[in-house]
Amino acid sequence: MSMLKRSDVPVEETWNLEDLFATEQAYTAAIEELGQLVEETAAELAGTITDVQGAIKAIKATEKIQEKMVVIGTYASLSHSVDQTSTENQMRAASFGSFAAKLATKLSFVKSDLLALDEAVLKEAQNTKPKYANFINKLLVQKPHQLHPEAEKALAAFGATFDAPYELYNTTKLVDMQFPNFEVDGESFPLSYNLFEGDWELETDTDKRRAAFEAFSKKLRDYQHTTAKTYNSHLTIEKTDADLRGYDNIFDSLLQSQQVDRSMYNRQIDLIMNELAPHMRRYAKLLQKTHQLDKMTFADLKISLDPSYEPKITVEESRQYMKDGLSIMGEHYTNMIDRSFDERWIDFAQNAGKSTGAFCSSPYGVHPYVLISWTSRMNEVFVLAHELGHAGHFYLANEEQNIFNARPSLYFIEAPSTMNEMLMANHLLKNSTDARFKRWVISTIISRTYYHNFVTHLLEAAYQRKVYEIIDAGGSVNAPKLNELKREVLEQFWGDTVEVSEGAELTWMRQPHYYMGLYPYTYSAGLTISTQVSQRILNGDEAAVEQWIDVLKAGGTKTPVELAQMAGVDITTEQPLRDTIAFIGDLITQLEQLTSELLTV
Ligand SMILES: [Zn+2]
Repeated sequence: MSMLKRSDVPVEETWNLEDLFATEQAYTAAIEELGQLVEETAAELAGTITDVQGAIKAIKATEKIQEKMVVIGTYASLSHSVDQTSTENQMRAASFGSFAAKLATKLSFVKSDLLALDEAVLKEAQNTKPKYANFINKLLVQKPHQLHPEAEKALAAFGATFDAPYELYNTTKLVDMQFPNFEVDGESFPLSYNLFEGDWELETDTDKRRAAFEAFSKKLRDYQHTTAKTYNSHLTIEKTDADLRGYDNIFDSLLQSQQVDRSMYNRQIDLIMNELAPHMRRYAKLLQKTHQLDKMTFADLKISLDPSYEPKITVEESRQYMKDGLSIMGEHYTNMIDRSFDERWIDFAQNAGKSTGAFCSSPYGVHPYVLISWTSRMNEVFVLAHELGHAGHFYLANEEQNIFNARPSLYFIEAPSTMNEMLMANHLLKNSTDARFKRWVISTIISRTYYHNFVTHLLEAAYQRKVYEIIDAGGSVNAPKLNELKREVLEQFWGDTVEVSEGAELTWMRQPHYYMGLYPYTYSAGLTISTQVSQRILNGDEAAVEQWIDVLKAGGTKTPVELAQMAGVDITTEQPLRDTIAFIGDLITQLEQLTSELLTV
């Protein structure tokens, strides 16, 4: 099973980017048109942002430009994401980056001029045009950190350059890094990033699984210094920006746009590190016992509890699962699911050069797109439900809100997605009395939903906090240091239950999230909210679904605390997180019980 080339993938397994631009020419024409619009707008607005009317006019012009920009940018990035080996895609994405930076440079005076206005003028603009209130609020918090207009302009001109570390990271990972086949008992097996994360990590044959891990780690190690240097450059940019703008520390600078204070950030990491660990160690022990492993290593953590049970599922079958599992969300929502299949919003193909993992992109004014590499394992039902959770969120928010108001804080982003995973699990559990199926569902929620969001990403967050503490104190990091920090976090969490295998310390190399600020911790934050709300729904609280739909429609018009409040969850306290950890502990106890029941039958 060697990797297909993108050009050999059947079209029905791909998404239809023609909804963004019908042809490459249309894309090029749109770029030209937008370039012209920006020229005209800049000339028209220059010197006019001096009063309430001037401010409103400028914001309106910005809105129009952003709407066009989003569609163009999405086309460049989505076409690139399905095949990063393609020269054409690379060039398109790169030239979009410099195009965007040029436009930002031409328009940087708009923000500077708006922020130079008295606060009273901006407040009046808010009252006159409530639809821009949110935009202005977000602007106002930046006021103390705004630099001289010429400095802002110079920084904007370097926009694409500042994104270079992330581009370099992806190029190293997806283009340069080529994995040779690995051998077990004289037999040869193919390896790639996607094959490792999608298949080999879950492989039941212990020899193959551990050999794959070793071969995978060996290749990562060849690139560790380049990747660490790339990452350190990114951190330096973030730190320099925070310093230039006069933030007390890098955390405040990164958390500002999330509308979250540092205690909410720290709580998520500290509480889970300490209180979830004992439960997850029990789960690791259960895996070890069930699979009769000599020892439990880092390379064994992703296997499923009952691999011989895992049903296979086709793309077409998945559609029915989505509709049944998420039907509780109402007709409008299930219509969206139908559209996502009928209109090819989803890219299912597995091919060389495709981005790893899965994601959803929801360009304003068009419709959401989902990237996934379909492995036919039943647990893809949860991956797809997750991504359609993002899709459903922005489908509703984009419908209800203007472009400035549609996107909530990163803190909340993973709530609607993980919510769908919980709804799917509840649906599957409700419709079966079979102990083995039940165990499969619960173990999938643990091994996927909670493992991914509360363990993988959380351990990334704990590690990331250590990295930022070093950077904030004026230090820097290299590969040995990052390896040491990553290993430390893994060992702290797993104790002596899991052997942190040679190569596990390189896990930091696998995650693109480190180029997106304080992102990793938000997974557990979102899942804390969705666990609590899904429990309300499961318990038959009828208001819960409607409130949740309202939360989705609210988009970014409210802070994470307010959004959670709308759904009946108070995240200013530790309680929801403690309840969620207890819930996970409870699921693991059920797994232990079901396992011993099945053994005695
Ligand atoms: Zn997600």
